[in-house]
Amino acid sequence: MLGAVNVIYLDNAATTRVLTESADAALYAMREEYANPSALYHFGIEAEKLLDYSRNTLADSLKASSSEIIFTSGATESNNTAIFGLASVYGKRRRKIVTTAVEHPSVLQPVLRLKEKGFEITVVYPDENGEITADALINAVDENTCLISAMKVNNETGYILPIEEAFSKIKRLYPDCMTHCDLVQGFLKLPVDVKSLCADAVSVSGHKVHAPKGVGALYLKKGVRIAPLVFGGGQQNNLRSGTEAVPVIYAFAKAVEMLKGSIKERFEYVSGLNEYAKKSLSDLGISLNSSDAASPYILSIHVPGIKSETVLHFLESRDICVSSGSACSRGKKSSVLTAFGFKDNVADSTIRLSFSSENTTGDIDVLCRELNCAMETLIKIRR
Ligand code: PMP
Repeated sequence: MLGAVNVIYLDNAATTRVLTESADAALYAMREEYANPSALYHFGIEAEKLLDYSRNTLADSLKASSSEIIFTSGATESNNTAIFGLASVYGKRRRKIVTTAVEHPSVLQPVLRLKEKGFEITVVYPDENGEITADALINAVDENTCLISAMKVNNETGYILPIEEAFSKIKRLYPDCMTHCDLVQGFLKLPVDVKSLCADAVSVSGHKVHAPKGVGALYLKKGVRIAPLVFGGGQQNNLRSGTEAVPVIYAFAKAVEMLKGSIKERFEYVSGLNEYAKKSLSDLGISLNSSDAASPYILSIHVPGIKSETVLHFLESRDICVSSGSACSRGKKSSVLTAFGFKDNVADSTIRLSFSSENTTGDIDVLCRELNCAMETLIKIRR
């Protein structure tokens, strides 16, 4: 059991430990306010109040209004809803969609399905410096484009995309082009909101911000229309049918409430950890993949000559959790690292460290000690 042993958890981009306040909120909603929020009697109205509070909290954290928030089962659903939903309404005449090569599969897969349905897809790749510039995104859009979907922070390298600059210009040049941002790895970590992003739709996920798994949200700007993915009882203004998952939604809102006032402090703290890690790892001869401009929450490294899986399991045997590439790619070669220009031998030995404000420099010291040990042991075995 992860929580029962002294594990050093450095895989916070995959998921995070749920805050006590968030877990307590879920328990309270399950045990005390368990009525269906659509029920007309008093207990139903009480459950609905938890939903209202949650919607307001999410809206506030994104500088949106509560009517612009749709709760989903997670960012995978938010991304699917945004892409299919916007393409269905706005893609009748304008048939082009723009995205990037470094998106999460929950963006790339829907876009591929739309390609099969006859949409023209333009994929923006990082340039020779591993950068996706605002101009590259802007230049990919034209009057035939109905949607651009691009992430704010890449989940494998922490690379930060210039979404604000790109989307604001795109909206000025092509006001009818819908803008969607996958904000999962930037939400409550960077000081961004739906206004600064100039986004018509924004996806966020609960379990990346110390709330439970199985809950997310989609911001949809007032006046922007989507075709729903899920049909049924007409909850959430007919945009996402199904009885709202009050316990996890309420727990999500509690986590957001706990974190939203400390974005700057946590950023500074995690930046310090990241710097400390970079220095300690470089001293060991370990190479860094993430650039200096990346989000401090994610540090991609590679241990020359040793396969990621081997290092990962070695560290696991020492109760240290890290990831190879992203948790979602599960051992598959990462197309994202290739797109960023990393050679196969680098991609094959890449380890992703991802931090939260619960980590300490002591965790980094143990990681470095064990990585050193891993290198000595594994290289000896090979000899
Ligand atoms: N987008 C990004 C950038 C992610 O990192 C993830 C989670 N790995 C998702 C989307 C999917 O989120 P969820 O697990 O909530 O479906």
